Amino acid sequence: MSHRVINFFAGPAALPLPALERARDELLDFAGTGMSVMEISHRSKEYEAVHNEAKDLVRELLDVPSNFKVLLLQGGGNLQFTMVPMNLLHGGRKADYLVTGNWAKKAYKEAKIVAPDAVRSIGSTEAEGFKRLPRPDEYQVDPAAAYLHLCSNNTIYGTQWHRFPDAGNVPLVADMSSDFMWRPFDVRPFGLIYAGAQKNLGPSGLVVVLIRDDVLEQCRADLPSMLQYRIHADKDSLYNTPPTFSIYMLRNVLAYNKSIGGLKAIEATNLAKGELLYGCIDRHAGFYRPYVTEKSDRSVMNVDFHLPTPELDAEFVSAAKKAGMVGLKGYRDLGGIRVSMYNAATLPMVQTLVDFMEEFVRARG
Ligand SMILES: *Cc1c(COP(=O)(O)O)cnc(C)c1O
Repeated sequence: MSHRVINFFAGPAALPLPALERARDELLDFAGTGMSVMEISHRSKEYEAVHNEAKDLVRELLDVPSNFKVLLLQGGGNLQFTMVPMNLLHGGRKADYLVTGNWAKKAYKEAKIVAPDAVRSIGSTEAEGFKRLPRPDEYQVDPAAAYLHLCSNNTIYGTQWHRFPDAGNVPLVADMSSDFMWRPFDVRPFGLIYAGAQKNLGPSGLVVVLIRDDVLEQCRADLPSMLQYRIHADKDSLYNTPPTFSIYMLRNVLAYNKSIGGLKAIEATNLAKGELLYGCIDRHAGFYRPYVTEKSDRSVMNVDFHLPTPELDAEFVSAAKKAGMVGLKGYRDLGGIRVSMYNAATLPMVQTLVDFMEEFVRARG
């Protein structure tokens, strides 16, 4: 039996143990083929079943209506920063961006490269260190915009949109790389959603894209093939060889999510984890100092805080490691502690961390 740690890394991040165990058990002989899934044609019926099951599970778990396509692409979240404006900003069309953290800012910068005159930032909290999200009265969406882009969860700064902006008829486009499927939500106001897999879904490199049919119809048809949403949609994400093993792992993760009660059950666990950890932080607010200033903007996925000194931060990280918990060192520009507790972090794991934090503040506070 191998030794497993409690993994709070920000990404790539922990995956549910049963999804990994299934991969181990099926590694040498996948679906009775006598081969691993990595060694078989992406046109085989055995692989095709996995491909379709992964897409169907996204659709089923999130209740995605039939006027959306589910695409499984490559290039991670970063290529989507580029593909979105490339496909959608042509013929004088413009887009608005909410800049709420590093990833949102990267998306904005890439869009500026693609379409310098068509992209504007309508709300940024950068001057305040991204410690909160913009309030609805702080930004105005151009009703003629082709889309409003946002990042649903700020992996680095630890804010999360719990209520998405109301953009009227303007389709929302969201980078949900670090909180996709943390709970059920209504996908219909979204024209396009993308999520790099390595936080909440599976291995890095793979990105899940949901695109609404009316938005797909607006996409350019004169781009290089690999950059066209239209071609990937027409070819059912099999235009070229897809990342078959990553999609297989996505299937394992989503099948496991379904087996434990789907996104309602996962949401309940995530909210309980948030209450546990923020409860501890708030009980000892002078010692565990949260980075995010607005409680209503707190992320349930990534939680940032500082101890009173950098020395205590470092001591916390190394003592936690001795206690079997890894990945707690804060983002390099931010310092302090970051707890990333995506879907695969169980309630007992977070309880173990909170017990450790109570112990640590008793000893060192
Ligand atoms: C991790 C992350 C990305 C980057 O994804 P890559 O797969 O490395 O391109 C983008 N957006 C958010 C919100 C992330 O957390």
